[in-house]
Order: sequence, then C-alpha cells, then structure tokens
Amino acid sequence: MTVQADPRLVAELEIYGAQDVLKCYHCGNCTAVCPFSKAPFIFPRKSMRYLQMGLREKLKSNLEPWLCYYCGECSEQCPREAEPGETMMSMRRWLTAQYDFTGISNLLYRSWKMELLGIIVLAILTGLGFYMFGTATGDIHKYDGPGAFLPSAVIHAFDWTMATILSTFLLINCGRMWWFTMGRDPEHRATPAMYARRAGLLLLHFFTQKRYSECDRKGPWRLHIVLMLSYVSMLVLIMFFLPMMQAGPAVNWWAHAFGYAATAGLLITVAMALWGRVQKSATHYKHSHETDWIFLIMLFYVALTGILQHACHRLGSPYAANILYLAHLMGVVPMLVLEVPFSKWAHMCYRPLAMYFSHVQVDAMAAKESAAAETLPA
Ligand code: SF4
Ligand code: SF4
Repeated sequence: MTVQADPRLVAELEIYGAQDVLKCYHCGNCTAVCPFSKAPFIFPRKSMRYLQMGLREKLKSNLEPWLCYYCGECSEQCPREAEPGETMMSMRRWLTAQYDFTGISNLLYRSWKMELLGIIVLAILTGLGFYMFGTATGDIHKYDGPGAFLPSAVIHAFDWTMATILSTFLLINCGRMWWFTMGRDPEHRATPAMYARRAGLLLLHFFTQKRYSECDRKGPWRLHIVLMLSYVSMLVLIMFFLPMMQAGPAVNWWAHAFGYAATAGLLITVAMALWGRVQKSATHYKHSHETDWIFLIMLFYVALTGILQHACHRLGSPYAANILYLAHLMGVVPMLVLEVPFSKWAHMCYRPLAMYFSHVQVDAMAAKESAAAETLPA
C-alpha cells in the first residue's frame, strides 16, 4: 500500500464531525483509559495520529473506529480537550462514505441540506405513487381485504423489492469494507479456514453487542440494544408477517404483541437519545452531527405514524388509518433508502463485521509469526 500524506484530511474529517484533532499532543491518556483498547488494536491515539499525519489509506484500512463504542472516557480524560471519542465517531461516518461505491453516502454526510432534499423528494414520490395506486385500484375508506386502499400483498411485494435492492447495495459496500481492511493488505490476508472458524462472532456481535456490554457504563449499551432489537423485530414482522399485522380490526396478539413491544422500544429509546442530545447529558451526546438528528427524528416519526395508523384501524377509522399509513410510508421509504446502505443504519453491518475481521486479523498475524519462527535457524 502506498503511504502518502494528505494535508486536507483533517479538514475533510471535520465535515464528518471531527473536533479539535490538531490539539492532540499524543500523551496517550485516551488509549490508557479506553476499556476496549487491547493489542494489537491500540486506540484512539493511533487513529488520531493517522488523521493528523493525513494518512488517508491507513485510515481507510483501519478497523479501530468500529471497535470504539463511544463510551466517552477518552474525551473526558484528554488533557487537551481534543475530543478523541467524537473523532472516532467522525471516522465511522467517513469510513461509511469510503465503503460506499455510489458516492451517495459522501453527499449525505457532507451536506445535511442534500440529505433533507433527498428525504423530501423520496417522501413526495412515495406519497404520490401510493396515493395514485391506491385510488386507482382501491377505496381510501377501506383499510384491508378486497378493494383495500393499500393492500398488504402489494405493500409486501414492494417491501421485498426494496429490501433486495438495498441489500445488494449494502453487500457491495460490505465487500469494499473487506477489501480495504482485509483483502488488499498482505499483512491481513487470512485463509478461508480462519474466516470460517470465527464466523459465529458475526451473529454474536450483531445480536448482543457483546463488546459494548463489557463497558463499565451499562446505560448506553442497554439503550442501544433495546433500540437495535426493537428495530430488527419490526423489520422481521414487516418482512415476514405483514398480512397478519395489517389484518383486523381485531387485535391479533400473536403478532401485534411483538409489534407493540418493538414500537414502545423504538419510541422510548429514540426519545431518550433525542433528549440526551438536547440536554448534552453525556459525553457521547455533547456533539451531534446533523445526520444524527435527521436519523433520530425520522425513526421517531416512522414509529409514531406506524402506531397511529394501527390504532386508527383498530378504532374503526379506516380513512384516517389509510392517510396515516400513507404518511408512515412517506417516512419509511426515505429512511430505509438513505439510511440503510448509505448512512447510519449501515453500521449495523459494519460494526459486527469489524469485530469479526479484527479476530481474523489477529489469527492471520499469529499464523504468520509462527510460520516465520519455524523458518528461523535452531
Ligand atoms: S487525544 Fe488527548 S488524551 Fe489522546 S493522545 Fe491526544 S492529547 Fe492525549
Ligand atoms: S469513546 Fe470509549 S471506546 Fe471509544 S476510543 Fe474513547 S474510550 Fe475507547
């Protein structure tokens, strides 16, 4: 890998939220207090150094920003107030943009106005499209069954089409992450057996965020896991049980109980995260990038309109339920299209992948060392 210094790198990362990077004088306090910094992944000081030196390619192949869970300890202990925790966060945003082959992520992170415009355009197109379809084929006063305004079979087919397209984008981006962090560097090249041996870590870290749970501060992990599991539960319900969720107006507790729990989980955790950011009540809430606000507000809007349209249907107001359903879809589509492969939600894949790759890297390095030791003369 060619190593070239790029003096514009700090300014570039500042757009992604980096704070006061140049204040860092490498005392190492941050690394000493970081609960997750363990050899060979010594951070955040090393990442701060790459950034200050403008080592773009080094930073791009770096897994360490994903191993940080933004507990905030390092920022609190930094004698120079160089905000290493927020800088690690900005690196995750920047890396998300580097992995994305379309350039959309870069556009969204660099300009909140572009993101807002994208959301508005997608929301209008979604609203118009579904409204025209619904009025042409159904009755806006009918919520489910034959002649419904937005029949569950149509929405289901739309969901699966969208999921296939978005997953393709995300998979390509994950492939690029692999290439930057594992594939192109001979130091990190691992055998298929090494990947297979560690594959279980992907699921473990995705579902439990085990590493985050090892942090002394349990509050943020609890909030994060409830938010993530609520979101995943809702996704599973929508992708696999939509006809059951939409049928009614009687409540089907087998399906709806999970939906209520997931909606409550989303509304409460998102409200807490929003309130924390307004109050700046913790170090990781002190600085908020515009994309953090947009993401949380959209998630809250989607959960709220989802439960309201459901309530209107159960209360016997199919017209209000259909209007709210339309409003709900106008939030869901832009949120999924923009956030899943190109922005905040992509970290649900990148972080467990980084945990997995970091273990494979360690195995690969250990194998190389032991092979080198065997070639030494006795
Ligand atoms: S970020 Fe702060 S604590 Fe970390 S090495 Fe730099 S000056 Fe020291
Ligand atoms: S925010 Fe916490 S996990 Fe992240 S680098 Fe700082 S101390 Fe480590």
